Amino acid sequence: MGGRPLLNRRLAGLGTTIFAEMSAIAAATGAINLGQGFPDTDGPARVAEAAVRAIGRGHGNQYPPSQGVPELRRAVAEHQQRFYGLVRDPDTEVVITTGATEAIAAALLALLEPGDEVITLDPSYDAYAACIAMAGGVRVPVTLRAPSFRPDLDELYAAVTPRTRLILLNSPHNPTGTVLGPAELTAIAALAVDRDLLVVSDEVYEHLVYDGVRHVPIASLPGMGERTLSISSLGKSFSFTGWKTGWATGPAGLVAAVQTARQYLTFTAPGPFQYAAAEALRLPDDYFAGLRDDMRHRRDLLADGLREAGLDVFRPQGTYFVTADITPLGHRDAVAFCRELPERCGVVAVPHSVFHADPEAGRSLVRFAFCKRTEVLSEAVTRLTSLRGRPA
Ligand code: PMP
Ligand code: GLN
Repeated sequence: MGGRPLLNRRLAGLGTTIFAEMSAIAAATGAINLGQGFPDTDGPARVAEAAVRAIGRGHGNQYPPSQGVPELRRAVAEHQQRFYGLVRDPDTEVVITTGATEAIAAALLALLEPGDEVITLDPSYDAYAACIAMAGGVRVPVTLRAPSFRPDLDELYAAVTPRTRLILLNSPHNPTGTVLGPAELTAIAALAVDRDLLVVSDEVYEHLVYDGVRHVPIASLPGMGERTLSISSLGKSFSFTGWKTGWATGPAGLVAAVQTARQYLTFTAPGPFQYAAAEALRLPDDYFAGLRDDMRHRRDLLADGLREAGLDVFRPQGTYFVTADITPLGHRDAVAFCRELPERCGVVAVPHSVFHADPEAGRSLVRFAFCKRTEVLSEAVTRLTSLRGRPA
């Protein structure tokens, strides 16, 4: 092929995602998969039944409207109002996407000119770096450092240049579990207004916050409604990650920009799931409280277990991931540790470094997912405890 690399410069080096790699290892070895973030039990039966019913009734079996079925756009708008007091017009300020991932990709493809800079909280969900690269943008990471994993606001301010187009936020934050607090959000909002920046806010873990911490969408802060695109999806809040049904909400101009790009990516998101998603978003408050309490219980089980197994644990305020430092076990390199872990004790986890712009930054940190049955988490802890005292 003329000696030219097949992958273009934007995609070169992206390789296979860590999630595909780790889940394949888990499947091949039978190890407990605390790597990829998906629950090992499905979400509410009535939501699953709604999808089956929609297929049976022919709702959404043929191409739904590109922007999403009106039923779901209304349910998304209602959800934003019910939980956050945000008022969005379902006709012009909501778009349904094939998972949050498509919303992120479409937003970046639509909003960036080549060379535009995007500020990200680093480490970050791996699709950010890939989508920024595909859009020709330049990632400008602001590092969240252990032990607090909170953004250094001076660093954030210093990261803005005349080329900065947008801040790509994620709170609750994957992989650290940080939930941005009122002072941090206010400072970021002031920066965005002052420097006239857009904000793309990935809130897929919006309902997974613990210990009385509240998730506040940055779009609800003064001056932010007009410059923020809020993104979420069904996967984490309803334990149907395979349905890949997501949405973006924001001012009509930003939503139209996303829609312009995504109509040529997928045209539309799968139909029957959209009807089921509308039912899911309208579940009563006790569903959301139950999900949160259940996940908090699992967080504690895994965090306590990891601590007893000798790791240095950072208990997260949100998401379903816990980060731990493996240094006390006599290890320094989390990539090597995670590669060996399935063989050594039958557990799969993900090294933090894959989420970092600078892999050295998270060298001894490992991310474990706790969205698994309690007996599975207990067994994983037992296996990890067997590492104690064994040579590194
Ligand atoms: N954003 C973050 C921070 C995530 O962790 C994930 C992983 N689920 C996504 C987006 C992707 O969401 P979806 O599966 O809806 O595309
Ligand atoms: N967001 C999930 C995680 O961080 C995985 C998503 C994916 O597999 N691409 O584990």
